[in-house]
Amino acid sequence: MSVLVYINSNDGKIAKNALEAVTYGKKIGNVTVVTNGSAGDDVLAELGNYGAEKILIDRSFNGSDEQQLTKLVAKAATSTGAKTIVFSNDLVGKAVAPRLSVRLKAGLVAGATDVPTDGKVRVNVFSGKAFGYVEVKTDVKIISLLPNSFQPEQVGGSAAIEEFNGEVGEAAITVKATKKPEGSIPLPEAELVVSAGRGLKGPEHWGIVEDLAGALGAATACSRPVADIGWRPHHEHVGQTGVAIRPNLYIAAGISGAIQHLAGVNGSKTIVVINTDEEAPFFKAADYGIVGDAFEVLPRLTEAVKKFKAAN
Ligand SMILES: Cc1cc2nc3c(=O)[nH]c(=O)nc-3n(C[C@H](O)[C@H](O)[C@H](O)COP(=O)(O)OP(=O)(O)OC[C@H]3O[C@@H](n4cnc5c(N)ncnc54)[C@H](O)[C@@H]3O)c2cc1C
Repeated sequence: MSVLVYINSNDGKIAKNALEAVTYGKKIGNVTVVTNGSAGDDVLAELGNYGAEKILIDRSFNGSDEQQLTKLVAKAATSTGAKTIVFSNDLVGKAVAPRLSVRLKAGLVAGATDVPTDGKVRVNVFSGKAFGYVEVKTDVKIISLLPNSFQPEQVGGSAAIEEFNGEVGEAAITVKATKKPEGSIPLPEAELVVSAGRGLKGPEHWGIVEDLAGALGAATACSRPVADIGWRPHHEHVGQTGVAIRPNLYIAAGISGAIQHLAGVNGSKTIVVINTDEEAPFFKAADYGIVGDAFEVLPRLTEAVKKFKAAN
């Protein structure tokens, strides 16, 4: 089965979710990757290690216009005869996969969490409280993979790199400036996340969250109201209407655990909740719960992590 995987390599790098998508594609069939931008051959060659057999790169198109990206992937799909097209369900995948679905008249499963079994693809439904199984009946199928639901696997292959003209035409929009989120660890890729909510009482108290994140090497996140009132930047907001994450460890301090928050974090492997209210709903979803004041507990955890790291 011929599988096409779109990956974003615009900034010359390949993110973890791109490796997840290639690994996922490899489980389905023979993978051709399509990408654009300026990634060097050495960077792209790494994809062979994750199962890509061929990489089509359009270096003449370095933009992120979603309509142009749709044309790029559509052309690659037609020229490779791909029967399954895989995206990561990140911001680009969410924008391009539905457009491609219309253009190719191909059924789309958004937010897959596993490889198809008997033609059915598992997805999270009801804000992650249940699974659904979706069967796509069109000849060409599009699947967007939920980030962090699938571990990248090295298979030790190598990929042929080919220049590709996606014939994407003119951009409908011009991006005048972009501002990258600050912080060294991108939240969607973070394995460890320290997050806080309104229980922190104000932005001036975030130092204790950042200290613990710094000691652990974790990314920071927050609940939606915290971003809405401007205590923290919007790109840190996790949940149903924010970023969905699935880290190995999610530490939540001063967050009540509303269903809309849980929707974005309940795929985390281990959840630690710190809350003064022992009735806080988040404790029901927690693997470890600390009934206590975040202002006392967070600095003590930071101290303990530092001690542990110094001794090991
Ligand atoms: C359509 C819709 C979409 C939404 N999407 C999202 C979303 O994507 N993400 C999201 O987060 N929310 C979302 N919400 C909002 C959500 O319903 C909750 O209102 C929100 O998550 C609550 O944020 P919070 O837990 O920080 O604040 P609160 O609900 O005010 O909870 C604060 C918690 O801190 C505890 N606390 C207080 N002081 C301390 C202390 N010193 N130490 C420790 N604990 C303390 C309190 O006991 C309480 O449990 C959405 C709501 C709607 C209607």
